[in-house]
Amino acid sequence: MPAPRGKRRMERLSQLLQVDPRQETAFSPGHNACPGCGSTTALRMVLNAVGDRAIYFVPASCASLYFTPSDTTTTRVPVIHTLFPGAFAEAEGMARALQLQGRDEKVVVWAGDGCCYDIALGSLSGAAARGANLLVICNDNEGYQNTGGHLSSATPPDAQTRTGRRGDQVPGITRRKDLVEIMAAHRVPYVATASVAYPEDLQSKVLKAREMEGFRMLLLLTPCVTWGFESRYSVKLARLAVETGYFPLYEVEGGRHYRITHEPAMLPLERFTRLQRRFNGGDLNALHEEIDEKWAELRFRSERSRRERVQRPAWVAA
Ligand code: SF4
Repeated sequence: MPAPRGKRRMERLSQLLQVDPRQETAFSPGHNACPGCGSTTALRMVLNAVGDRAIYFVPASCASLYFTPSDTTTTRVPVIHTLFPGAFAEAEGMARALQLQGRDEKVVVWAGDGCCYDIALGSLSGAAARGANLLVICNDNEGYQNTGGHLSSATPPDAQTRTGRRGDQVPGITRRKDLVEIMAAHRVPYVATASVAYPEDLQSKVLKAREMEGFRMLLLLTPCVTWGFESRYSVKLARLAVETGYFPLYEVEGGRHYRITHEPAMLPLERFTRLQRRFNGGDLNALHEEIDEKWAELRFRSERSRRERVQRPAWVAA
């Protein structure tokens, strides 16, 4: 009898990613996150790609509960739980100490959008400006979800949060803060976006960032059930976010060289928003405007980078 369809798909994916689906990962089963939590899927992928020779710093977030050792979950990697503002400086200190001891463990910060976009943005910027040898993973679920689904600077326009609708709550602030652009402006070695719905793309970016020195950051869009969707739609939503143009997949090297890593189908935005209660009753005008503007900038920059690559004389180092 042939294997069921889901199993066959899992086998194909595991061959592609060269992982054994039955293998132990650094993140043990039985975690206490919500069913359908996109960030636990992303965390498992990141842990597999980075490997066991790594030390993780986790500022306050849902991950404080599901990633740190507890009666339901454990990990094989050391995890240090920190306060929001101290996370990047503490991780930088650890990276420096390891370097002085001649050790090769990677230092990873796994932080939410509330930490990276808002509370610890200054600390994040300082670490980037100093060229701290860190891999920062911003787990972007577009709000302070651990404390009940409050608005952050990553919350999209027209979205309802537990404390109000975006435009009503903070008049005048109608856009998602563009963290990738902020970090690229620091001219750091590597900044990229990735999605749990595109595991090959995510894995290749983590592997690339892992091998680099200096400050690297990945922004991962991770659906959270507080958006108001059925948990079975988690990965589907992550895919629709990309294919509607809502969340572009791209990378920036050296703060200047842009590359779009996946061309979306540009499906109607409503395919993404209608599966989530947070967009009920909101008009999507501001969101459409934001997406159009983002893509115009992104296409301009990636085309400029492509022309520079073509025109670069052979004797210039790649
Ligand atoms: S609140 Fe959101 S981010 Fe937190 S565990 Fe639940 S689904 Fe995951």
